[in-house]
Amino acid sequence: MTAVDRHLIWFRNDLRTHDHPALAAVSGAESLLCVAILPPRLLGTTEHGFRRTGPFRARFLIETLQELDRELRARGNRLFVVRGQPSDVVPELCSRYDLTDIWYPDEPGTEEATEVSELTDALHRLSESTGRSVRMHAHVSSTLLHSDDLPFQLEQMPRVFTDFRKAVEHVWTVREMVNTPSGLPPPPGDPDRDNGVGPVTRDSVVGESVSVVWGIPSVEALTRESAPEPDPRAAFVWRGGEGAAKRRLEKWIWEQDALRRYKETRNGLLGAEYSSKLSAWLSVGSISPRFVYEEVRRYERERVRNHSTYWLIFELLWRDYFWFLAKKVGPRLFARSGPRRVTKPWRYDREAFDRWRTGNTGNDFIDANMREIAATGYMSNRGRQNVASFLARDLQLDWRLGAEYFESMLVDYDVASNYGNWTYAVGVGTDPREDRWFNPDRQAERYDPDGSYRRTWLAELR
Ligand SMILES: Cc1cc2nc3c(=O)[nH]c(=O)nc-3n(C[C@H](O)[C@H](O)[C@H](O)COP(=O)(O)OP(=O)(O)OC[C@H]3O[C@@H](n4cnc5c(N)ncnc54)[C@H](O)[C@@H]3O)c2cc1C
Repeated sequence: MTAVDRHLIWFRNDLRTHDHPALAAVSGAESLLCVAILPPRLLGTTEHGFRRTGPFRARFLIETLQELDRELRARGNRLFVVRGQPSDVVPELCSRYDLTDIWYPDEPGTEEATEVSELTDALHRLSESTGRSVRMHAHVSSTLLHSDDLPFQLEQMPRVFTDFRKAVEHVWTVREMVNTPSGLPPPPGDPDRDNGVGPVTRDSVVGESVSVVWGIPSVEALTRESAPEPDPRAAFVWRGGEGAAKRRLEKWIWEQDALRRYKETRNGLLGAEYSSKLSAWLSVGSISPRFVYEEVRRYERERVRNHSTYWLIFELLWRDYFWFLAKKVGPRLFARSGPRRVTKPWRYDREAFDRWRTGNTGNDFIDANMREIAATGYMSNRGRQNVASFLARDLQLDWRLGAEYFESMLVDYDVASNYGNWTYAVGVGTDPREDRWFNPDRQAERYDPDGSYRRTWLAELR
């Protein structure tokens, strides 16, 4: 890095300051502009009309951006939140601040990939018209394993999870976390005053082509709905940001000592302890999977190493598996016939779907889970498997209705994990057992034997 380098970090689902490859790489630069871009897709609707970012995730995202801003300020920088297309916003900022380098995290979704290719084209056009080129650097920050350490090319990635797991366990490599310096280069000039050109205020226009908001929006501005009140029945309420993520990890692993018995409790339905609840922070990147991994290893050294400690890493491998699978299969992840190209006679019955969505199917176990997600933005993994199976196998509804509803509602929505798990659960994905079906009554007997979970969410049973 030289003193004439002027960098921009484009934050996406890497909203943290610890173990951040780009923040670790930019020390010594003349300036650093930290930008989170809210693209139109995030604010729009899905194919079947669900809001892409529902109020639970909107609130979580806003808290996350606020905390990232605080963390960057503590290091002499700050976060700018901009609304617009990355391919409009970034070139505009490059021209304005004469930037030399752009950093961004590699992401698995197809829309995310399109954003990068459109930005690359736009920067190419900019360099042709100005004669100055901008270097682009992708970094890997979402997965536990680095893509360069996989023992296969992505195109040859094993289709079945067990084969994937065995292959990566054979050459097991988790890279060490990278350090973020306590002091970062300052933003270029005084961005609040538009680098001397004039004050930049909320909703102001940068240049002629880009409409941007410099500031963190409210839940209402993002979703046109008010922020949800926490439901008193929710055993866990997420707060966005890396501080809250680390506190959760500390409490769950060390204070509650819950990791010790995770393998036995992980199929639970009620309460905060049966699983880590780290998913929402992992999804936006507020906690690095390598941070979680290092804590698990420390716990193994200092307390106990058992099946449960292995199982948490095993679940993080599922997460990596779906991430790499999404990269490999691209648009097939979202196709009705899924990665396996299976043609099924899916129904499109909006009334039946609405009964499922609102928890009025008549099956207590399914309904309790659907009421939980509607009230909290969360559902256990056991619940998710059951309601997905019910929608696709019992109701035979187009699985994408369910996946899109989850996308809208889940506080921990992650493109690869959501669509990967949905395609897996409904038989169009990579499950080697193609006919897997969950009998909700038997599942309820096994996982909710005294009915306390169902009574918590179904007022009519109390
Ligand atoms: C239909 C369906 C949709 C899902 N959608 C999402 C989603 O959008 N986002 C999401 O993060 N998870 C999703 N999952 C996976 C899983 O249900 C959640 O990760 C988990 O319930 C989150 O709770 P936790 O953090 O307490 O998990 P824990 O049991 O504590 O697991 C630890 C971590 O491992 C990862 N993990 C665990 N199980 C899975 C899995 N099956 N697939 C991928 N990663 C996993 C998560 O990052 C999780 O935080 C989905 C599962 C199903 C069946």
